[in-house]
Amino acid sequence: MLRRGIFLDRDGTIIKDKVYLSDPGGVEILSGVGDAIGFLNSIGLPVIVVTNQSGIARGYLSEERLAMIHERLRYLLKRQGARLDAIYYCPHHPEGILPEYRLDCPCRKPASGMLKKAAERFSLKLEECYMVGDKDIDMETIHRVGGKGILLSDSTDLGVGSRAEYIAKDLEDAVGWIVRDLQI
Ligand SMILES: [Mg+2]
Ligand SMILES: [Zn+2]
Repeated sequence: MLRRGIFLDRDGTIIKDKVYLSDPGGVEILSGVGDAIGFLNSIGLPVIVVTNQSGIARGYLSEERLAMIHERLRYLLKRQGARLDAIYYCPHHPEGILPEYRLDCPCRKPASGMLKKAAERFSLKLEECYMVGDKDIDMETIHRVGGKGILLSDSTDLGVGSRAEYIAKDLEDAVGWIVRDLQI
């Protein structure tokens, strides 16, 4: 049986967006995120981070460094009683300076490669999945597979014209909307 899952963008959605973050010490979880993810864990929905990390292709950080950042992220979330089921990232960029990462990758959002990988691993029905993100590109990513998008925005103006199913002020608000939409 296929199931539902929740995709989360990373920068600006669960941690503070520092633009090409390369220092594990710079990981700052946004307020309410631990509770929101912990709640999703408690109702049994897989929580999957999907993040574009073109900083790797651009030479700003290595995959080893990114792994340290994600270890730190998991540690900080664990202290708040929250767990990520998986983190997928795309290190590529068509104009990357490192040849091995210079690629127009089918995983880079808004392409849906990362969602499809997760769907296989977690037996997800993507049309019934949700994505929370702070950019329209996140909305486009989930719409390409038929799911619903929740855009984080602290300005109501920003939501106008967005194709998101819901505009949330933070992750807790987004998760509240998802639970109402799921009618559970
Ligand atoms: Mg973001
Ligand atoms: Zn990629």
